[in-house]
Amino acid sequence: MTPLVDIGANLTNRSFARDLDDVIARAFAAGVGTIVVTGTTVPASVDSLALARTRPGKLYATAGVHPHHAAEVDHEVLAELRALQAEPEIVAVGECGLDFDRNYSPPADQRRAFADQLAIACDLGRPVFLHERAAHADFFAMLREHRPSFPRGVVHCFTGTGDELDAYLALDMHIGITGWICDDRRGVHLRELVGRIPADRLMIETDAPYLLPRDLKPQPRNRRNEPGLLPHVLRAVAAARGESPETLAASTSATSRVFFGIDGVTEAGRTRR
Ligand SMILES: [Zn+2]
Repeated sequence: MTPLVDIGANLTNRSFARDLDDVIARAFAAGVGTIVVTGTTVPASVDSLALARTRPGKLYATAGVHPHHAAEVDHEVLAELRALQAEPEIVAVGECGLDFDRNYSPPADQRRAFADQLAIACDLGRPVFLHERAAHADFFAMLREHRPSFPRGVVHCFTGTGDELDAYLALDMHIGITGWICDDRRGVHLRELVGRIPADRLMIETDAPYLLPRDLKPQPRNRRNEPGLLPHVLRAVAAARGESPETLAASTSATSRVFFGIDGVTEAGRTRR
């Protein structure tokens, strides 16, 4: 089977601090060939970059500020995010977006931080790793406004409605699907929707340590998700699409490599720059 790409894993989360090497080794052993480590603040993005450099050609990272931390975004933060985009292991701007579910940062700060990060992606021609929760209308309006100017964007951990999905696809967005689809209470609607996503727009992710698939048996005692469980997500998405896991592995990996532009980035690529 084609090695999988986990497009979103929060490997710098402190829940991995004690056994990160084992977690990464398990992922590779399970058939995950590439992991994109999610950056959620400047320090987390710097840590993600450092981690990516320990596994050249296998780990990559994003650099951005999650909407929960939007209140911290100032000129200095934006300058650091912009500088990080020059690093070969950094493959996208994000995670950025809007999250009005808990409003850890005030909505006005979230809109500003999101617009500023979209502007970086537009200026530098970078792909964007996007987070939206309970904010579809505002989020979509901002995406549409900037859409002509950034090359590619993935709505990560999509859990929305059919109308929301159609709207994103009409904007030529990519869609990231997590183990949410394995949830018999909240994820059933996704099983009908994933068949609408063209293969060249569909990617898969664990969002580890969050979103442990609810149908996984036995459930690990610590309830922690990890990238080695991506094949479980793959099988659920493949079943919902009426495809074989092998077919979906090949298409999602190809789509992810093109999206993040990761084929040319190796240790050699680093020294060339
Ligand atoms: Zn997210």
